[in-house]
Amino acid sequence: MSTNAKKPANPDRRRFLTEVARGSAGCALAGMGLAWLAKEAQALPATAIRPPGALAEEAFLAACVRCGLCVRDCPYDTLTLAELGRDAAATGTPFFTARTIPCEMCDDIPCVVACPTGALDPALDVIDDADMGVAVLIDEEHCLNALGLRCDVCYRVCPLIDEAITLEQSHNARSGHHAIFMPTVHADKCTGCGKCEKSCVLPGESAIRVLPTRLARVEPAEHYRLGWENREKIVDELIDLPDRLPGPGTDNLKAPGGFEQEFKPTFSLPQGSKGQ
Ligand code: SF4
Ligand code: SF4
Ligand code: SF4
Repeated sequence: MSTNAKKPANPDRRRFLTEVARGSAGCALAGMGLAWLAKEAQALPATAIRPPGALAEEAFLAACVRCGLCVRDCPYDTLTLAELGRDAAATGTPFFTARTIPCEMCDDIPCVVACPTGALDPALDVIDDADMGVAVLIDEEHCLNALGLRCDVCYRVCPLIDEAITLEQSHNARSGHHAIFMPTVHADKCTGCGKCEKSCVLPGESAIRVLPTRLARVEPAEHYRLGWENREKIVDELIDLPDRLPGPGTDNLKAPGGFEQEFKPTFSLPQGSKGQ
């Protein structure tokens, strides 16, 4: 038997070691938790709509200190702070869900005024210039207007009626004698307030939804040109026309159809005959 085995256990020492072990485990867990939180806090929200004036997502996450002042000052309770593990947006950051409470587009934009860090850009002073997202008619098969009925609710509630949403008329092939008035969003005017999404009469989700601009819009195809707008450029740049053309008025006499001043026919009519 070893000498150590004969020694009575030292309760103070054992307690000390147990507490050190507990502390280490706690630190490890806290570290894992903090790492997860940091990762979660950087995650891009999938569909969360930011308040008016929000900077581009990465800059917004860096600037927003999660103080909640914009939420506090929104008179319509539109804004919510994302909760850990429940909401899609990075924890503690403000967002809104249009189908629940849209943005009422306050003229004095109190959410932006309240923001102490510029995460909501103070340069936004006209609410019609807000760019919270873009409405998209996401389900044409269930939209009542697209089916040939006159619902129009999303169109009529839009604060920028006939600018952000217009109704585009077309023939209704199904009935043969009714028109279809298709709700059509103009992304350059739409502020993303979500009043159309909130008001859609369909019972569950709305047929028209506001998406963050990065999801609703794509990069334009700069390498394609609109022929009807760039006709001259297309002729000049895409079609390799010869610089010199055949025929009178040019000096490209060897080209097919070219014309030579000293043209000599290889045959001659008999003397006295008349050509037709
Ligand atoms: S503009 Fe008005 S309604 Fe919209 S988020 Fe800001 S305070 Fe709320
Ligand atoms: S989100 Fe809808 S209601 Fe708001 S501006 Fe855009 S189209 Fe109009
Ligand atoms: S409110 Fe809904 S169903 Fe009615 S026209 Fe607009 S998107 Fe279609």
